[in-house]
Amino acid sequence: MDVDLLIKGAEILDGSGAPTTRGDVAIVGDRIAAVGRAEGARAKRVVNAMERAVAPGFVDIHSHSDYHYFLAPQVESQVMQGVTCEIIGNCGYAAAPIWGSWLEDRAREYKRIHGLDLDWTTVAGYQERLKNIGVSVNYAVLMGHGTLRGSAMGGANRPAKPEEYSALAWELEAIGYRLVPIKRFTRSLRSGLGGAGGEPDFERQD
Ligand SMILES: [Zn+2]
Repeated sequence: MDVDLLIKGAEILDGSGAPTTRGDVAIVGDRIAAVGRAEGARAKRVVNAMERAVAPGFVDIHSHSDYHYFLAPQVESQVMQGVTCEIIGNCGYAAAPIWGSWLEDRAREYKRIHGLDLDWTTVAGYQERLKNIGVSVNYAVLMGHGTLRGSAMGGANRPAKPEEYSALAWELEAIGYRLVPIKRFTRSLRSGLGGAGGEPDFERQD
């Protein structure tokens, strides 16, 4: 077997939860071609990993890389730690959807501090920008409750008025979500900017 990279003698954690084994990992191009014993493989490059462990990429479920991607699209701060997938938009602080004076204020701040141009309002627009720069990790985007509320009603510490609620609903429905009564989510919204909500929450509409 001809391979591009052969990692030899590593302690292998395959991500399944199974006990570790010691063996080889053969890679062709950007794909794993074989795991186990790779006797007789001809490799362009061999890495002796006797003192090392090999594992699938880690998922960072609480990341704030939303804007950082534009500053460092190679995301080395994550990749160097073995992270290959991030969940962004945490703590209600998502980059989209965002509109109105909330967007203007944030755009001014990021232009001043980082020289960034925030020229999107929707999640689709945000993702289009990310696609254009190329980001080296996989990512999933959370809906930012704080960003949504801020866009619809600023930082007001009160339940949404009907017209503000409508603005939230419209933005969410535009990307396939619907607002639902909050009662069963109450515990999760007691603190932070999200805790000021009291009324709306959202879930995926399938
Ligand atoms: Zn956070």
